[in-house]
Amino acid sequence: MLDQSSLAELGRIVGKENLLTTREDLVCYGFDATPRLSQLPDAVVIPGTAEEVSRILKLANRAGFKVVPRGAGTNLSGGSVPIQGGVVVQMTRMNRILEIDTENLAAWVGPGLVTSDLHTAVEAIGLFYPPDPGSMTVSTIGGNVAENAGGLRGLKYGVTRDYIMGLAAR
Ligand SMILES: Cc1cc2nc3c(=O)[nH]c(=O)nc-3n(C[C@H](O)[C@H](O)[C@H](O)COP(=O)(O)OP(=O)(O)OC[C@H]3O[C@@H](n4cnc5c(N)ncnc54)[C@H](O)[C@@H]3O)c2cc1C
Repeated sequence: MLDQSSLAELGRIVGKENLLTTREDLVCYGFDATPRLSQLPDAVVIPGTAEEVSRILKLANRAGFKVVPRGAGTNLSGGSVPIQGGVVVQMTRMNRILEIDTENLAAWVGPGLVTSDLHTAVEAIGLFYPPDPGSMTVSTIGGNVAENAGGLRGLKYGVTRDYIMGLAAR
């Protein structure tokens, strides 16, 4: 259960504007694309850096509340619904393309980057990122990794797991 001191600490970590606690806000994070499944979180945090994510997880560990990461909430397996309450960690502020390394055909991106934004960026320089889930104009790379998403191009090129070279805080 989330206590008042943890709530205050979350506000200090992400900034008050990135901590949501009103019922009207929480409702939006209590469901995903899975039918007949919903549960209000105790709070939502929207971190902007890997360091903030790390501090949130350390606090959760210390204080004993649950955390549920969320990208665009398009999954169909209930993965981003906080069924036991706790804090939803909304990843969409971390949506930058940090680097496209054309020599090694690799890109460093934030987990909240929308999949089709990566397509657009690499295609503009003559490259190709194959995974194309039907939700790609809204789903995020972090959600794609967690769900190992793939689309029609998967038949020829494979799915997300075939294109992940590493996961790191950066
Ligand atoms: C219209 C529609 C079409 C779809 N088409 C396809 C398709 O063609 N192929 C396919 O495979 N799927 C498809 N899906 C399912 C869904 O879009 C994918 O599973 C997608 O990868 C989910 O991404 P998301 O950003 O919405 O993640 P979310 O739904 O927010 O989260 C999915 C899971 O990932 C976890 N997660 C999210 N971000 C992070 C993070 N940064 N770090 C750690 N864990 C994280 C969540 O906790 C959750 O367990 C479709 C869904 C819809 C609604």
